Amino acid sequence: MNRRSFFNRSATLALGAAVGSSSGLLAAATGPSLDRKRVLRAAHLTDIHVMPEMEGHQSPAAGMTDALRHAQAQADKPDVLFFGGDLIMDALKLEKEKVTAQWDVWGKVVSAEVKIPAKLCLGNHDVWGWGIRDAALETEALYGKAFALERLALKDRYYSYDQAGWHFVVLDSVQRDYGNKHGYTARLDDAQFAWLAKDLAATPVATPVCVLSHIPILSACVFFDTDLEATGSWLIPGAWTHIDARRIKDLFRKHANVKVCLSGHVHLADDITYLGVRYLCNGAVSGGWWKGDYQEFPPAYALVDFYDDGSVENRLVPYRRA
Ligand SMILES: [Zn+2]
Repeated sequence: MNRRSFFNRSATLALGAAVGSSSGLLAAATGPSLDRKRVLRAAHLTDIHVMPEMEGHQSPAAGMTDALRHAQAQADKPDVLFFGGDLIMDALKLEKEKVTAQWDVWGKVVSAEVKIPAKLCLGNHDVWGWGIRDAALETEALYGKAFALERLALKDRYYSYDQAGWHFVVLDSVQRDYGNKHGYTARLDDAQFAWLAKDLAATPVATPVCVLSHIPILSACVFFDTDLEATGSWLIPGAWTHIDARRIKDLFRKHANVKVCLSGHVHLADDITYLGVRYLCNGAVSGGWWKGDYQEFPPAYALVDFYDDGSVENRLVPYRRA
């Protein structure tokens, strides 16, 4: 089976599972209606990890360019690009000059190649210095998320907006945590959680909601990222998937119009439905960090179609020529 047929097949199977589980478990959640209309098409590009050329890696700038051209050249064009975080290879552990060099490549490719509106969320690797843990660095104005926000001209690290009859919420999954080796944990800070609760409460119940985050709120593919089970337990690090998933799930339970959550971070892909919410983890544009595929998943982006009945279709698109 070639890659294309694998991806088409897995998308179809996943959709079947999602429809089956939602209609079986919850009377309120029904499958897509027959006369639904597509209202928006997005290309979700996550984990691009762009950086200057590096030996032993495929060219990140050329790869990012290929992905952007491929997505925007679709006969059925996307209306918007979602950049899902980990835009650059790494700012967590690198000094300022190297982080600047990566943002420079990002800026160059974006200004040459992005032709349609785009929305962005921050990933862990877009945060400067948390992996270094240097007190002097903490006094720098660009420390933490400020560097990325400035380079991306982003006013807020989380926000929401309306488009095509849908409400879109963009979250910031990454909170500083020096208590683990990653320097961060995947969760919403209390202020952001309170904002999210208010934002959802203010959204009309008839308006479907899509949540975009870098790190998955809920994920199945994280089980296969490294051989976790070798310890005899499935201990999923809180840096891999939202450690506050329970309270977010409880919040979503109060809002039946929350339909879909898009994420990346794992560089693997999955499609799961839990309590009527579809969680889609959409692989990585960089695949295995510009060294080819990551496990079964080649470098890819996703095309996400939004419908007026609150349903979505999601398809992973490998964009590199064989
Ligand atoms: Zn990543």
